[in-house]
Amino acid sequence: MGIRSRIFFIILSCLFIGISLAFVVAERDLSIGLQQQIETELSKQAKILRESFAQSDQSQDSANLKSQIDSYSKASGSRITLIGRSGKVLADSSIAMSNLTSLDDHSNRPEVIEAFANGFGSSKRFSNSMQQEMLYFALRDTTTKSNRVIRISVTNEYLDRSLASLENAMTLIVVVALIVAILASILAGNYIRESLMDLERAADMSDGSSKTKDMQHLPLKRSDEIGSMARNISTISMNLKKQISLIAKQRDQFGLVLDGLGEGIMVLNEDGLITFRNDQISQILGLEEIIDLSIHDLEIPALSRMFKKAKKKGKFDSEFELETAAEDTRWILAHMNQAKATQEFILVVHETTQLRQMDSMRRDFISNLSHELRTPVSVIKANSETLLNGALEDKKDAKIFSKAILHNADRLSEMVTSLIDLSRIEYGELKFVIESIVLNRIIETVVQAYQNKAKRKNIQIIFKHQPEVIINSDAKAIERVLNNLIDNAFKYSPENSLIEINLSKQGESVRLAVMDQGEGIAEEEQDLVFKRFFRTATARANTQQGSGLGLAIVKNLVSNLHGDFGVESRPEGGSEFWFTIPIA
Ligand code: ADP
Repeated sequence: MGIRSRIFFIILSCLFIGISLAFVVAERDLSIGLQQQIETELSKQAKILRESFAQSDQSQDSANLKSQIDSYSKASGSRITLIGRSGKVLADSSIAMSNLTSLDDHSNRPEVIEAFANGFGSSKRFSNSMQQEMLYFALRDTTTKSNRVIRISVTNEYLDRSLASLENAMTLIVVVALIVAILASILAGNYIRESLMDLERAADMSDGSSKTKDMQHLPLKRSDEIGSMARNISTISMNLKKQISLIAKQRDQFGLVLDGLGEGIMVLNEDGLITFRNDQISQILGLEEIIDLSIHDLEIPALSRMFKKAKKKGKFDSEFELETAAEDTRWILAHMNQAKATQEFILVVHETTQLRQMDSMRRDFISNLSHELRTPVSVIKANSETLLNGALEDKKDAKIFSKAILHNADRLSEMVTSLIDLSRIEYGELKFVIESIVLNRIIETVVQAYQNKAKRKNIQIIFKHQPEVIINSDAKAIERVLNNLIDNAFKYSPENSLIEINLSKQGESVRLAVMDQGEGIAEEEQDLVFKRFFRTATARANTQQGSGLGLAIVKNLVSNLHGDFGVESRPEGGSEFWFTIPIA
């Protein structure tokens, strides 16, 4: 129901109650007043009649009595009855004398009883003889010898007419009041409605966007209740606006923090419906749009199971393997907790694939290291025992075994040095000295150092001279990379072969390649040779000894110098190991 209708009904109800009360009171007062007035009138008439009876001697003559009351009745318009002490009707202006005997005893009429007792009496009741509502007034007439009552009665018509005109007046008042109520309600309703609509417009902050424009419409200057409400709304609105922008800011910051976390976060309601997620969880689980989906819709059985368990226990942790849509396998560590305050479930996931890989690498590393170290140690041990067991006596044997001990001790020392170097590079302990270097000069010096070895193995090592190439980098690191690659080229190349060193510019970098005509590397092993301790099957089968650490050092040094590296099989056989270094 609108405000206008309400006001209309309130005004109407008030008017109705007021008018009804006024009507009841007025009707009662009018009726009592009129009745009293009629009674006074009737009393006067009765007294006049009694007086007239007293002056007339014919009052005992019933015929005269009848004509006297008839003429009086005609003049006054009222009914006149004379009732004897016994209750017998002696004469009546409305009834013929001959019919009087049919009338019943009137001694029981209240006005008659009262009149005989107190001298006068009145009553208002239905008359059986007249068949209508009548007003009676009775006066005891003691002027004659006989004790009788003069009763004058009139119909209720006058009273009814007066009341009917009161009713008409009241009906008119009601109609007028109705019109006034309608007009008043329309005016008041419009007035209040417009004021409230201004307030409503300004107070409509459901979307948090109460506009300053709306605020200007507020009746802030009014001194009534609407004005005070408007001022309150304006204050609330300003505060709310500030709070909303603060909350929005905090929400954005919180969102950024959650997105910036390494962990994936998801919030579920009690039914398992996803109500929040950060970017990370989508990436970790490899899922796009998950808001409003059920946890079971994600089709990750481990998560569905977790949710069921967490619902029972309040929290649950699990680590599981996940096959993503991109068909890679990830290890996920997940914790699910139920928040006490909201009963929501908060799922936090970490991807542990890398940790697991590192763990497995660590285990591989230790096992490889023990294996690699054990070989030279066993050789040293065996040769030393042979020497002690008598080989020392034979000079020739002693030399052979001692040489083997020395060779393996060198190998062991080389391996330990490489390991220490590798760990220093990996942990960032090796400091690079970046300076302007002429690359050709470094290559030439390294190549020069290998000339004797080349002659011994009958291998030709060539570096085609380039126009001067100057780069900003660490000379020692580049020398080390080059040494490792050329060392390998010698190690895995047959006699009478060629090792070629090539330097070229590639955009913003220089590319250095060491090519040999050796055994080459199978395609599936090409990615693995840069891993620590990896040695190809052919290398392991060969007598050529190695630690499997040289290329791992190459990989780490080049990466630290912001370059790239790789190996390719050459069409003419052999391999090409290359690396790039940015010029600047
Ligand atoms: P290693 O001490 O065994 O040479 P590296 O890390 O230097 O260790 O090399 C790893 C493995 O890569 C070698 O064991 C070998 O199997 C392979 N390799 C490296 N360089 C060459 C090459 N020029 N030709 C063929 N295989 C090579």
